[in-house]
Amino acid sequence: MQQPTVNIIGAGPAGLNAAISLAKLEIKVNLFEKQDKPGGHLSHWHSLFPNMYDAKTLLKSTINNIKHPNIKLYTSKNIKQIKRQNNQWTISSDQNQEYTSDAVIITSGFNLFDATKKEEYGYGIYPQVITSLELEQMFNKRSKWPFSEEIEAPKAGFVHCVGSRDTKCGNNWCSKVCCVKAVKQAIEFKKLFPKAEVNCFYMDLRMFGKGYEELYMKAQVDYNIQFVRGRLSEASPANGNKVNIKAEDTLMNRPLKQNLDMLVLMVGMTPAILLNKQSEHIDFVKPKFQQGFITPVDNYQSIISQDTPGVFAAGTCKGPASLIDVIQDAKATAFEVLEYLKKEKEKKAEILEKFNMICAH
Ligand code: SF4
Repeated sequence: MQQPTVNIIGAGPAGLNAAISLAKLEIKVNLFEKQDKPGGHLSHWHSLFPNMYDAKTLLKSTINNIKHPNIKLYTSKNIKQIKRQNNQWTISSDQNQEYTSDAVIITSGFNLFDATKKEEYGYGIYPQVITSLELEQMFNKRSKWPFSEEIEAPKAGFVHCVGSRDTKCGNNWCSKVCCVKAVKQAIEFKKLFPKAEVNCFYMDLRMFGKGYEELYMKAQVDYNIQFVRGRLSEASPANGNKVNIKAEDTLMNRPLKQNLDMLVLMVGMTPAILLNKQSEHIDFVKPKFQQGFITPVDNYQSIISQDTPGVFAAGTCKGPASLIDVIQDAKATAFEVLEYLKKEKEKKAEILEKFNMICAH
């Protein structure tokens, strides 16, 4: 019997982990990535919450694991269409190449919110205002600090919920990981600048994951990071290459003004462009979308529609999730795919048996 094949769209953490699990189950995998290398958002990270594990080490070991005889990685491939043909799925790239498989997993991930849409924070106008992604690049020494290196005690602010839980910009969902990410980044910053003054401005603190609450306590007790409940109203330029922020401390019921050397916007997760609901390329696959994220048939499965058996979704294309949750979801999806392939094989064997019986008469 021919080895079954699965096409996976997206080689971020979800795609990579689903591919590795399937390959170990003796299933062939074609793994497609639109960028020129695999890794997705993980390749921008410096360290991972809650244990400050080195992101590059995790990425390197994951990429090493996809060097498996059952996995073929295709980079710089943009998938344009998925269609059903004779009980199989054919996906087409923008170079009009076609790849046929017995099942498909969509792991197209997420995009980060475009911070320029929150004009009041001055992102793209004031150099002191940066995103959480840019701060990771600074930790990775790929770019410079937005303040003079001579400042020994920089003042920094972290703004939570930028582009999340915000009806004004149409993103009502919580991005789930940016609270703990702010805590992680604030600690990393304090390790580099022990005399820094760091404030986190939040609406609610959502520390739902294992070890998150402990990290939050550590930030306060060991690193003297301050948490202020209140939303920032605006940022404006101030003397001495600083940015002035106005906020309201809603616990103390008082307005607050500060001059900062760095303001970090904790940008939330938004649906990835690939296969979003505006796409005309999914005529054959009719997933349901909730706020642009793919919604599977229920919360306990990854199959995206009963009408399109064999197409699954894993990871953050279904909604915001932590890296740990993404990896677990990808591995679980691989087993769902295996179950599906087994059932399909049984169905085919049954049809063949009936056919042979008819021929024998
Ligand atoms: S995780 Fe925290 S910062 Fe992120 S959207 Fe939810 S409440 Fe806001």
